[in-house]
Amino acid sequence: MNLVFLGPPGAGKGTQAVGVCEKYNLPHISTGDILRGEIKQQTKLGLEAKKYMDAGQLVPDEVVIGIVASRLTQPDCQNGFLFDGFPRTLPQAEALAEKVEIQMAVNIDVPDENIINRLSGRRVCKSCGATYHVDNHKGQTCDSCGGELIQRTDDAPETVANRLKVYHEQTSPLIDFYQSKGVLKSVDGTRSIDEVFAEICAILDKEFSK
Ligand code: ADP
Ligand code: AMP
Repeated sequence: MNLVFLGPPGAGKGTQAVGVCEKYNLPHISTGDILRGEIKQQTKLGLEAKKYMDAGQLVPDEVVIGIVASRLTQPDCQNGFLFDGFPRTLPQAEALAEKVEIQMAVNIDVPDENIINRLSGRRVCKSCGATYHVDNHKGQTCDSCGGELIQRTDDAPETVANRLKVYHEQTSPLIDFYQSKGVLKSVDGTRSIDEVFAEICAILDKEFSK
């Protein structure tokens, strides 16, 4: 299974990717997580990327394409993978298509009005990266590792507005890109986490049992 998750920031890509990767035994490749890892380690790439991320802009294509090209050479990608947050531009999608065949792009559809609440209430574990929402998680610590929960700097309201604009301008055209390749599946991302998960699994089971 070579999969891509599409959707605006806060659609639930990361949340669903964790369960889907566990169930289907796929590596979860989140370019956002890789970039945040680079920032944490204060690498040159991380320091450069941070400027874009804090402003709610996309990191330049050549940087992200380079990260993904190197990740795809790892042995765990041989039997499939799930990209979360990549590709985000047409040049990225084209570069990916030159390297591997994407068999399914799952578009998690959530309107802008839900995104503000999703992102302003998002909390992530500083240690393991697990994602929560203040509406259904009380307390300041991670359920799985006990780490401290923090708010991402790019989830500040002024940055969220910019990220949504960037999504509509640069990323949403990928819906047509994958539709024209005949591999697009859309799910209603406004339903509960469990309902969205069940819908994605039903689509994958149907498609990959053929
Ligand atoms: P993305 O990876 O697409 O940016 P996340 O998976 O981090 O989005 O989800 C954004 C926020 O919305 C998180 O706080 C998460 O707990 C919450 N969330 C995810 N899916 C749902 C859902 N189906 N219903 C309600 N909240 C959700
Ligand atoms: P995410 O964790 O997917 O929400 O990504 C956080 C931020 O990382 C984005 O707002 C971008 O600045 C950057 N980023 C992540 N993935 C990409 C990508 N594929 N292309 C460009 N920038 C990216």
